[in-house]
Amino acid sequence: MRILVVEDERDLNLLLRKVLTKAGYTVDGCFDGEEAQAHLLGAAYDGILLDVMLPKKDGYTLLQELRAQGNDTPVLFLTARDSVADRVTGLDLGGDDYLVKPFAFEELLARVRAMTRKRVGQRTNRFSVGDLVLDTERRQVTRGGREIPLLPKEFSILEYLVRNKEKVLSREQIEDQIWNYDYAGSSNNVDGYLSRLRKKIDGDGQDKLIHTIRGIGWVIREPDPDQGGRP
Ligand code: CA
Repeated sequence: MRILVVEDERDLNLLLRKVLTKAGYTVDGCFDGEEAQAHLLGAAYDGILLDVMLPKKDGYTLLQELRAQGNDTPVLFLTARDSVADRVTGLDLGGDDYLVKPFAFEELLARVRAMTRKRVGQRTNRFSVGDLVLDTERRQVTRGGREIPLLPKEFSILEYLVRNKEKVLSREQIEDQIWNYDYAGSSNNVDGYLSRLRKKIDGDGQDKLIHTIRGIGWVIREPDPDQGGRP
Protein backbone atom coordinates (compact mmCIF):
# COMPACT_ATOMS: atom_id res chain seq x y z
CA MET A 1 0.00 0.00 0.00
CA ARG A 2 1.36 3.35 -0.97
CA ILE A 3 0.62 6.36 1.20
CA LEU A 4 1.27 10.07 0.66
CA VAL A 5 2.00 12.18 3.73
CA VAL A 6 1.29 15.90 3.26
CA GLU A 7 2.41 17.79 6.35
CA ASP A 8 4.46 20.98 6.60
CA GLU A 9 5.72 20.41 10.14
CA ARG A 10 8.99 18.81 9.26
CA ASP A 11 9.48 16.71 12.38
CA LEU A 12 5.94 15.36 12.28
CA ASN A 13 6.23 14.64 8.56
CA LEU A 14 9.41 12.60 9.06
CA LEU A 15 8.00 10.82 12.08
CA LEU A 16 4.81 9.87 10.24
CA ARG A 17 6.84 8.49 7.36
CA LYS A 18 8.97 6.48 9.75
CA VAL A 19 5.97 5.02 11.57
CA LEU A 20 4.15 4.12 8.36
CA THR A 21 7.26 2.65 6.74
CA LYS A 22 7.87 0.52 9.80
CA ALA A 23 4.26 -0.68 9.55
CA GLY A 24 5.01 -1.88 6.02
CA TYR A 25 3.63 0.93 3.86
CA THR A 26 5.43 2.48 0.94
CA VAL A 27 5.52 6.17 1.80
CA ASP A 28 6.22 9.45 0.05
CA GLY A 29 6.18 12.72 1.90
CA CYS A 30 5.73 16.33 0.89
CA PHE A 31 5.47 19.65 2.65
CA ASP A 32 2.98 21.82 0.79
CA GLY A 33 -0.18 21.57 -1.29
CA GLU A 34 1.45 22.09 -4.66
CA GLU A 35 4.11 19.47 -4.08
CA ALA A 36 1.29 17.11 -3.08
CA GLN A 37 -0.47 17.74 -6.37
CA ALA A 38 2.67 16.88 -8.31
CA HIS A 39 3.02 13.61 -6.38
CA LEU A 40 -0.59 12.71 -7.02
CA LEU A 41 -0.15 13.19 -10.73
CA GLY A 42 2.92 10.97 -10.73
CA ALA A 43 1.74 7.93 -8.78
CA ALA A 44 -1.36 6.07 -7.64
CA TYR A 45 -1.77 6.20 -3.86
CA ASP A 46 -3.96 4.06 -1.61
CA GLY A 47 -4.40 6.85 0.90
CA ILE A 48 -3.39 10.41 1.74
CA LEU A 49 -2.64 11.83 5.18
CA LEU A 50 -3.47 15.46 4.66
CA ASP A 51 -2.74 18.37 6.94
CA VAL A 52 -5.27 21.22 6.69
CA MET A 53 -3.06 24.28 7.16
CA LEU A 54 -0.42 24.01 4.43
CA PRO A 55 1.71 26.49 2.51
CA LYS A 56 0.85 27.28 -1.14
CA LYS A 57 -2.41 25.37 -1.11
CA ASP A 58 -4.37 24.29 1.96
CA GLY A 59 -5.66 20.79 2.51
CA TYR A 60 -9.33 21.63 1.94
CA THR A 61 -8.62 23.26 -1.43
CA LEU A 62 -6.39 20.40 -2.48
CA LEU A 63 -9.06 17.83 -1.61
CA GLN A 64 -11.77 19.83 -3.36
CA GLU A 65 -9.70 19.93 -6.54
CA LEU A 66 -8.88 16.22 -6.34
CA ARG A 67 -12.51 15.21 -6.00
CA ALA A 68 -13.49 17.57 -8.83
CA GLN A 69 -10.95 15.76 -11.03
CA GLY A 70 -12.58 12.44 -10.14
CA ASN A 71 -9.68 11.31 -7.92
CA ASP A 72 -11.23 9.24 -5.11
CA THR A 73 -8.09 8.34 -3.15
CA PRO A 74 -9.10 8.08 0.53
CA VAL A 75 -8.08 11.09 2.61
CA LEU A 76 -7.42 11.20 6.33
CA PHE A 77 -7.17 14.78 7.57
CA LEU A 78 -4.57 15.59 10.20
CA THR A 79 -5.62 18.75 11.89
CA ALA A 80 -4.79 20.93 14.84
CA ARG A 81 -8.23 22.43 14.59
CA ASP A 82 -10.77 20.60 16.62
CA SER A 83 -13.85 22.71 16.19
CA VAL A 84 -16.92 20.86 14.98
CA ALA A 85 -17.27 23.21 12.02
CA ASP A 86 -13.80 22.37 10.73
CA ARG A 87 -14.32 18.63 11.03
CA VAL A 88 -17.62 18.91 9.23
CA THR A 89 -16.01 20.94 6.45
CA GLY A 90 -13.33 18.29 5.90
CA LEU A 91 -15.84 15.44 5.72
CA ASP A 92 -18.27 17.39 3.53
CA LEU A 93 -15.54 18.10 1.01
CA GLY A 94 -15.00 14.38 0.59
CA GLY A 95 -12.50 13.54 3.29
CA ASP A 96 -12.91 10.02 4.70
CA ASP A 97 -11.80 10.62 8.26
CA TYR A 98 -9.83 13.00 10.43
CA LEU A 99 -7.46 12.91 13.37
CA VAL A 100 -6.96 15.84 15.71
CA LYS A 101 -3.34 16.51 16.68
CA PRO A 102 -1.78 15.33 18.86
CA PHE A 103 -2.77 11.72 18.27
CA ALA A 104 -1.46 8.30 19.21
CA PHE A 105 0.32 6.42 16.43
CA GLU A 106 -1.63 3.23 17.17
CA GLU A 107 -4.81 5.15 16.44
CA LEU A 108 -3.35 6.64 13.28
CA LEU A 109 -2.39 3.17 12.00
CA ALA A 110 -5.81 1.75 12.85
CA ARG A 111 -7.48 4.58 10.95
CA VAL A 112 -5.20 4.13 7.96
CA ARG A 113 -6.12 0.43 7.87
CA ALA A 114 -9.82 1.29 8.14
CA MET A 115 -9.57 3.92 5.40
CA THR A 116 -7.74 1.68 2.95
CA ARG A 117 -9.94 -1.36 3.49
CA LYS A 118 -13.14 0.64 3.10
CA ARG A 119 -11.98 1.41 -0.40
CA VAL A 120 -11.90 -2.22 -1.41
CA GLY A 121 -15.17 -2.97 0.43
CA GLN A 122 -13.31 -5.04 3.01
CA ARG A 123 -14.52 -5.09 6.61
CA THR A 124 -11.61 -6.84 8.28
CA ASN A 125 -7.83 -6.81 8.10
CA ARG A 126 -7.72 -10.42 6.85
CA PHE A 127 -7.72 -11.43 3.20
CA SER A 128 -7.80 -14.96 1.88
CA VAL A 129 -7.10 -16.82 -1.36
CA GLY A 130 -7.69 -20.57 -1.16
CA ASP A 131 -6.08 -21.68 2.10
CA LEU A 132 -3.79 -18.64 2.17
CA VAL A 133 -4.65 -16.00 4.77
CA LEU A 134 -2.96 -12.62 4.90
CA ASP A 135 -3.45 -10.47 7.99
CA THR A 136 -2.51 -6.85 7.35
CA GLU A 137 -2.67 -5.87 10.99
CA ARG A 138 -0.36 -8.57 12.29
CA ARG A 139 1.60 -8.61 9.03
CA GLN A 140 1.29 -12.37 9.07
CA VAL A 141 0.74 -14.90 6.30
CA THR A 142 -0.41 -18.49 6.72
CA ARG A 143 -1.16 -21.31 4.31
CA GLY A 144 -3.28 -24.15 5.59
CA GLY A 145 -2.81 -22.68 9.08
CA ARG A 146 1.00 -22.82 8.86
CA GLU A 147 2.82 -19.49 9.15
CA ILE A 148 5.03 -18.46 6.23
CA PRO A 149 7.78 -16.02 7.23
CA LEU A 150 8.19 -13.26 4.64
CA LEU A 151 10.53 -10.30 4.27
CA PRO A 152 8.78 -6.90 4.50
CA LYS A 153 8.90 -6.28 0.73
CA GLU A 154 7.70 -9.80 -0.01
CA PHE A 155 4.76 -9.23 2.32
CA SER A 156 3.94 -5.92 0.63
CA ILE A 157 4.00 -7.49 -2.83
CA LEU A 158 1.82 -10.39 -1.70
CA GLU A 159 -0.59 -7.94 -0.06
CA TYR A 160 -0.85 -6.00 -3.31
CA LEU A 161 -1.55 -9.19 -5.27
CA VAL A 162 -4.12 -10.40 -2.75
CA ARG A 163 -5.93 -7.08 -2.64
CA ASN A 164 -6.17 -7.33 -6.42
CA LYS A 165 -7.04 -11.01 -6.55
CA GLU A 166 -7.76 -12.30 -10.09
CA LYS A 167 -6.29 -9.13 -11.64
CA VAL A 168 -3.04 -9.33 -13.58
CA LEU A 169 -0.54 -6.77 -12.26
CA SER A 170 2.36 -5.56 -14.37
CA ARG A 171 5.95 -5.19 -13.24
CA GLU A 172 5.52 -1.45 -13.47
CA GLN A 173 2.37 -1.44 -11.30
CA ILE A 174 4.12 -3.53 -8.67
CA GLU A 175 7.20 -1.29 -8.72
CA ASP A 176 5.03 1.76 -8.41
CA GLN A 177 3.15 0.31 -5.49
CA ILE A 178 6.08 -1.08 -3.53
CA TRP A 179 8.93 1.35 -4.03
CA ASN A 180 8.69 5.06 -3.27
CA TYR A 181 10.24 7.99 -5.15
CA ASP A 182 13.49 7.78 -3.22
CA TYR A 183 14.20 4.37 -4.65
CA ALA A 184 16.32 3.96 -7.76
CA GLY A 185 16.64 0.34 -8.80
CA SER A 186 16.21 -1.97 -11.71
CA SER A 187 13.04 -3.83 -12.53
CA ASN A 188 14.83 -7.16 -12.16
CA ASN A 189 14.20 -6.64 -8.54
CA VAL A 190 10.49 -7.28 -8.98
CA ASP A 191 11.20 -10.52 -10.85
CA GLY A 192 13.56 -11.67 -8.12
CA TYR A 193 11.08 -10.89 -5.37
CA LEU A 194 8.24 -12.62 -7.21
CA SER A 195 10.23 -15.76 -7.80
CA ARG A 196 11.23 -16.00 -4.13
CA LEU A 197 7.69 -15.23 -3.05
CA ARG A 198 6.29 -17.98 -5.26
CA LYS A 199 8.71 -20.48 -3.80
CA LYS A 200 7.62 -19.58 -0.28
CA ILE A 201 3.88 -19.48 -1.04
CA ASP A 202 3.48 -22.21 -3.62
CA GLY A 203 6.42 -24.49 -2.80
CA ASP A 204 6.01 -28.00 -1.40
CA GLY A 205 3.63 -29.13 -4.15
CA GLN A 206 0.68 -27.08 -2.95
CA ASP A 207 -2.04 -25.72 -5.24
CA LYS A 208 -0.53 -22.93 -7.25
CA LEU A 209 -1.93 -19.51 -6.30
CA ILE A 210 0.54 -17.06 -7.88
CA HIS A 211 0.69 -17.27 -11.66
CA THR A 212 3.16 -15.66 -14.05
CA ILE A 213 1.56 -14.26 -17.17
CA ARG A 214 4.42 -14.17 -19.62
CA GLY A 215 5.31 -10.71 -20.87
CA ILE A 216 2.52 -9.14 -18.83
CA GLY A 217 2.91 -9.72 -15.14
CA TRP A 218 1.58 -11.74 -12.22
CA VAL A 219 -1.78 -12.65 -10.74
CA ILE A 220 -2.99 -14.44 -7.63
CA ARG A 221 -6.02 -16.67 -8.18
CA GLU A 222 -8.26 -18.97 -6.22
CA PRO A 223 -7.00 -22.53 -6.77
CA ASP A 224 -8.47 -24.34 -9.76
CA PRO A 225 -10.94 -26.95 -8.40
CA ASP A 226 -10.01 -29.31 -11.27
CA GLN A 227 -6.44 -29.48 -10.04
CA GLY A 228 -4.98 -30.73 -6.81
CA GLY A 229 -6.62 -32.09 -3.72
CA ARG A 230 -10.33 -31.98 -4.43
CA PRO A 231 -12.25 -34.99 -5.75
CA1 CA B 1 0.30 22.65 8.95
